Amino acid sequence: MAWKTLDDMDLDGKRVLVRVDINVPMEDGVVTDMTRISRIADTVYDIQDAGGQVILMAHYGRPKGKVVEEMSLIHIAPFVADELGVPVTFADSDYRDAVKEMEGDEVLLLENLRFNPGEEANDPEFAKRLASLCDVYVNDAFSAAHRAHASTEAIAKLRPSCAGRLMEEELSALEAALGTPKRPVVAVVGGAKVSTKLDLLGNLVGKVDHLVIGGGMANTFLAAQGINVGKSLCEHDLAETAREILAKAEAAGCEIILPRDIVVARVFKAGAAHETVAPDACPADAMILDAGPATVAYIKGVFAKAKTLIWNGPMGAFEIAPFDAATNAAALAAAKLTKAGKLTSVAGGGDTVAALNQAGAAADFTYISTAGGAFLEWMEGKELPGVAALNA
Ligand code: ADP
Ligand code: MG
Repeated sequence: MAWKTLDDMDLDGKRVLVRVDINVPMEDGVVTDMTRISRIADTVYDIQDAGGQVILMAHYGRPKGKVVEEMSLIHIAPFVADELGVPVTFADSDYRDAVKEMEGDEVLLLENLRFNPGEEANDPEFAKRLASLCDVYVNDAFSAAHRAHASTEAIAKLRPSCAGRLMEEELSALEAALGTPKRPVVAVVGGAKVSTKLDLLGNLVGKVDHLVIGGGMANTFLAAQGINVGKSLCEHDLAETAREILAKAEAAGCEIILPRDIVVARVFKAGAAHETVAPDACPADAMILDAGPATVAYIKGVFAKAKTLIWNGPMGAFEIAPFDAATNAAALAAAKLTKAGKLTSVAGGGDTVAALNQAGAAADFTYISTAGGAFLEWMEGKELPGVAALNA
């Protein structure tokens, strides 16, 4: 792999500035989910074990270049200290003095990067100021790597740079799924709309052997083939685009798997009366809310022969039972194959992670990315500035 890791760097006696993602949810002054903080622990400990001093920098919320008191990282500092079990000192402006005063295993946390307009502008001067605090730069915020900001892009050119443990884990998992995957590779792309995932579909049809299209976006593909989808969520104006994707898949030898049966209902409501019908038999006053059991059975067969699975987007309206059935069944089948060592499974996306958790399948997936936009851009085949900068 092209990027360096902590193992490639001399950290002994060095000041190590680490870009992290600790943009955690907070309610009434309390962090309600510590996941993002707990995930930077290995990076912090490994730098300290190698004799380095850790300086953390991060963004919080969207203050848009201004100081917004509620978005100060001073509120997060005690939670970082608590979760990592190390003393954390907060520095709001006199960074250089604070760095000089660091002692022992003390970790220094800098103020919200986005209070400075230079951060999002990828300003070389701001990057220089940050770089002057350290000997080595580490990026451990994969979720921010799709943005070229001073703390993710410009700074990497000013100091010896490498990926932190979390970034390393994420890049390795994605590399295993799409870079040099074991074949056959199957992708599941679901969710609401084709329009939000055009680049994703376009990239995947050229790379994977089977592409399952599910969720609301499958309706657009069915409609593009002349099928009446009733009142279903459907982007009729994208019919031509859908047909182009199908043609590209055929040329690339990628099997497109559309619903082989559909679950329809008259209302978008939990427990709504529903029936399973053929894909071309959606009543005019009904909408397609999930794929049916025949589709699930077929997908399970494809999973069983595959070596690699990459998944973004639920197969149906998973928030309202029973329209979570196809997503749950497919997810559990993938989890079981992964647990048995037969499949490498990687998934990401806000609703996808929620759906896989709800299905009880997430824990057995090889890797679940929490990186949102960065994960999607990676799946779209785009170069992420924050990752590219580490290779420079
Ligand atoms: P992710 O956040 O994982 O990228 P998306 O945001 O693209 O996923 O899609 C998730 C949404 O798609 C969910 O809110 C789900 O209810 C919706 N959805 C899936 N299938 C359907 C359907 N058949 N009709 C309407 N909405 C659907
Ligand atoms: Mg979503």
